[in-house]
Amino acid sequence: MSSKLPENIRVINEGESDGRNWVFKITSMSGREVIAIAVSPANSSRTGPTWSYVFESEGLTTVDLGTPDSLNNLAKSYEYAGISINEIDRLIITHGHSDHDGTVPEFLAQSGARFYAHESYSALKTFDQWDIQDRGATPLQIELGRLGREKIDSDVYKDRYELHKDYYEARKTTVVDTNLVDGASIPGATILSTPGHSPDQICVKIDNLLLTGDHVLPEITPHPTSKMVFKEKIGNSPLVKSLRAEDLYGLGTYIKSLGIVVALGSEVQLLPAHRFFNKGKLNLGGVERASDIVLHHQNRLERLHSHIGNGKCSLTELTTRLFDRSKLLGGNLMAALSEVVAHLELLEDVGDIEISSGGSITHTDSEPPQYLEFIKNQGVYS
Ligand SMILES: [Zn+2]
Ligand SMILES: [Zn+2]
Repeated sequence: MSSKLPENIRVINEGESDGRNWVFKITSMSGREVIAIAVSPANSSRTGPTWSYVFESEGLTTVDLGTPDSLNNLAKSYEYAGISINEIDRLIITHGHSDHDGTVPEFLAQSGARFYAHESYSALKTFDQWDIQDRGATPLQIELGRLGREKIDSDVYKDRYELHKDYYEARKTTVVDTNLVDGASIPGATILSTPGHSPDQICVKIDNLLLTGDHVLPEITPHPTSKMVFKEKIGNSPLVKSLRAEDLYGLGTYIKSLGIVVALGSEVQLLPAHRFFNKGKLNLGGVERASDIVLHHQNRLERLHSHIGNGKCSLTELTTRLFDRSKLLGGNLMAALSEVVAHLELLEDVGDIEISSGGSITHTDSEPPQYLEFIKNQGVYS
């Protein structure tokens, strides 16, 4: 690597310029050590390797794994660090996306590790993922569903399920040994609950090092969830009953969680689950990255707010105004639409817009717009 590394980071294994096969050792301010290991995905992926982190405190703890079918890649990369899977005592998942928990059952079988995840991970993984949400709960969600059916071949989703059927079915019955909540301690680390990108997203704090999962990433702006209304049968199930959907989902929730990271202060160094190393360089950063992500969403809210102007607007019109045509094909279209929905929900919640039962969107006369006040109140600018 051409550029000089900071004193607290050592190269353990040199890998490729896109991040694959790199292993680093990072030392915290008080001398704690964390090994950062790039786990190559089983299939090529835009987000690149998943960074799996290992630290020692009353045994070895691993944070995050990789995509389904990538356990051999993980084992090989762990070898570069002189670690074998069966030495690991604890496994923590930062959230339940398949590029993080894709090989949990096989990893647990090999290692015999205890499994830790956020309490909502345990509750929600037991259901079919597409069967959780009441998609008729709001006019925006109804419109999103209608556009999805109209514009996107439903085979895209079926194929995705078929491809990873073993993963989806196995995770339902995998036993979580310890359900994590905000402020929980595990040997050598503290857990912060930071929902928004996903309901079960946590960060793991080891001294001044913060393992952020997908909550805060360099180079990539993580997708926020849209708001959630659980189907009645899901919301009433004893597993889910104690969870409040409004605390776990939506752009407002995500921005609040970014505020939690900003509040940790400038001594904190972020260790993300993607793009820690990419394009031949390490992406080192602190909590200011969380502020940048908020600013990105603030700009998007501002553009949406001004596009709505004084007339009536639809979800489709706003989405085509906000995104390039090239970003509006196939699965990308659904991602763009749901991103716009997440922003419109926030504008509606703070009272800047109204959405009719037929889905048409109009300005209220709130002046100045309330979303700015909402963002300011989350303490997201350091
Ligand atoms: Zn994710
Ligand atoms: Zn991810």
